Amino acid sequence: TATLTRGPDAPGRALSPALLPATVLAPTVPLLDGRLVDYAQLDHAASTPALASVARAVASVTATYSSVHRGTGWLSRVTSAHYEAAREEVARFVGARPEDLVVFTRTTTDATNLLAGALPDATPVVVFDSEHHASLLPWDAERTHRLPVPHSPAQAVAALGDTLAGLADGPQPLVVVTGASNVTGELWPLEEIVGLARRHGARVLLDAAQLLAHRPVDLAGLGADWLVLSGHKLHAPFGAGALVGRADWLDAAPPYLAGGGASLAVTADEVTWATGAARHEGGSPNVVGAVALAAACAALREHRGAVEAHEAALTQRLLRGLRAVPGVRTLSLFGEDHERVPVVAFTVDGLDSHLVAAALSAEDGIGVRAGKFCAHRLVDTLLSRAGAGGDTAVRASAGLATTAEHVERLLTAVARLAAAGP
Ligand code: PLP
Repeated sequence: TATLTRGPDAPGRALSPALLPATVLAPTVPLLDGRLVDYAQLDHAASTPALASVARAVASVTATYSSVHRGTGWLSRVTSAHYEAAREEVARFVGARPEDLVVFTRTTTDATNLLAGALPDATPVVVFDSEHHASLLPWDAERTHRLPVPHSPAQAVAALGDTLAGLADGPQPLVVVTGASNVTGELWPLEEIVGLARRHGARVLLDAAQLLAHRPVDLAGLGADWLVLSGHKLHAPFGAGALVGRADWLDAAPPYLAGGGASLAVTADEVTWATGAARHEGGSPNVVGAVALAAACAALREHRGAVEAHEAALTQRLLRGLRAVPGVRTLSLFGEDHERVPVVAFTVDGLDSHLVAAALSAEDGIGVRAGKFCAHRLVDTLLSRAGAGGDTAVRASAGLATTAEHVERLLTAVARLAAAGP
């Protein structure tokens, strides 16, 4: 039932070959009425399709790999070099300081939990309730100061300032903040937040999972202490993420995974643990994942302008088009015109969000997501502020595999569903 398609408006056609999603060659998808259509990829905020250039890098390393950091054979040395080159590319991609560590992890969630396990005793953590659960939940509840979902960037900064002032006499706090919301796509005022944290002597963890596919980050210039990311949100496949940043707390913490690689010397009654990234990368590393992640980072780093130009037009059309549909409410944290990456959450009056998403898939071949997007506190607050009836939303998120036709198809389909009503 599947065919291969490469239509005039195929994903990535206007982009550099380095940015071409592998899904350009994906099968068309069947609809309820039996027609086959090009899959409309509007679920990038969940996971991004791998780039064709990433798939080639994976094929190449898969064809030649051998053990990493343990073997003396030629292929072992080549594979170790690939793994360390991947680490360097990730550091370059996020603008890390020369002394920063890049610890490979499985995901952003994994990287955040790694840092949570490395906090010095009694470190207070300050985090907004609006965070993705990966940034909200890994911290010891007794030491966590959860700030209410803000109404504006200025209010967020003010609330953070008040909280940090109240913590002035205690241990050094950690502020956790997201770069771009995975629900509304809105950008957080990172420079103000990091500057404020620095003035109060606090450290900052930036959750860049949602931001990095769309915007560059300069960790050193920004002055944040750590950043976490996931390959599957950066056009690489699943299984590789990273924690990038300062070594001191990580070198002083117990290894994330005790075992080979993390240990330097073991006697009958003593273990000497490695320092640096190796301390937290116990076991045989995911070289294929690291190489894939690095290939995606290199493609995005080299073609930022093209990515942003492609996405700016899609974002505007998506947002304005949805807002123009009677009965559709788009959700915003900081105001309708606040700068955002191409992620828009919305509701349709009288319709259950999961049914809307299911109809978009079955009737129009459109992939979106419905629910609370692992950000329950934020979605509940936004729905109540928008006066929406249900308790979930639909999220459309564009990216490199989205075309203008996909967005038009979504807008037409949502208007049809909204007009038909419950
Ligand atoms: N942070 C944000 C802002 C996200 O959007 C996500 C994923 O949806 C995560 C963290 C968690 O990423 P992962 O599932 O790769 O751990």
